[in-house]
Amino acid sequence: MKHFRSVDEAGPDAIRRLLDLADHMAEVNRRPNPKVPALRGKTVCNVFFEDSTRTRLSFETAAKRLSADIMNFAVSSSSVNKGESLRDTIETIAAMGVDAFVIRHKSSGVPWQVSDWTRASVINAGDGWHAHPTQALLDCYTIRTALNRTNSFDGLKIAIVGDIKHSRVARSDISAFTMLGADVTLVAPRTLLPPETTVPVETNLDDIIEDLDVIYLLRMQQERMTESLVPSLREYTTRFGLTPERARRLPEHALIMHPGPMNRGVEMAVDPSELPGSVITQQVTNGIAVRMAVLFDLLGSGSNLEENE
Ligand code: ASP
Repeated sequence: MKHFRSVDEAGPDAIRRLLDLADHMAEVNRRPNPKVPALRGKTVCNVFFEDSTRTRLSFETAAKRLSADIMNFAVSSSSVNKGESLRDTIETIAAMGVDAFVIRHKSSGVPWQVSDWTRASVINAGDGWHAHPTQALLDCYTIRTALNRTNSFDGLKIAIVGDIKHSRVARSDISAFTMLGADVTLVAPRTLLPPETTVPVETNLDDIIEDLDVIYLLRMQQERMTESLVPSLREYTTRFGLTPERARRLPEHALIMHPGPMNRGVEMAVDPSELPGSVITQQVTNGIAVRMAVLFDLLGSGSNLEENE
């Protein structure tokens, strides 16, 4: 693979290969010294035009654990503020010698544009409402390990609940979960659904909650809403939030997931640290292993994961 820009573009074989590779990376991460020389001499540049806590730090940690050099481009203190175009910015950074760009941008499709301007590999760390493929990988990896699965999700019932319309996470997760064989249902008010969906839709969470293996809650993305799409957040919570009463109705083995950042009291109306099925912190931990897998797959030809060369 040259780039990792969307789940669909990567395809099922690459997704399965990356999940298997993530297992090796998780083993590296459990070592007392979680560092291997696999990407020594390679340079990875984080270019984030949108806010991020988890994804940026996770890529940075992943690159360091593989011994790559990491450059962090801070938009707020860059020449973008003097009007420099995206293309000039990318070409300038590329001229310093970069092997992979990790890019987040508010516009859909930017990772594809960027790959026309550089010979480096491009990893999509979130483009607008469109895609967030490493989030989908870490979600698949979390389900696979927490439910003791292989790379087949046949028969798993997963509900993705909330603001589907604005969610790149939902789009990438729908692709990845269905690719592995899961039955995915979207649960949302009509106003928070995209015009077309490829999987079934349910508007009453209470009708299906007792049958779920995974409930995946999404953040209400108020920064992307230009109009009022729900009557009130309180009403949203009453109908779609994970309340203590709904948490009790989930099957005992069911996983509770959220990509973060959470709106406590809105979609998450219960303290997740008190729910045995919550794997939200595991999602964050697993993010490092799957991003190591992606970087290694794109840049690591010929290197290995031994501690010393
Ligand atoms: N962190 C995820 C994203 O960047 C989800 C979210 O922001 O709600 O898309």
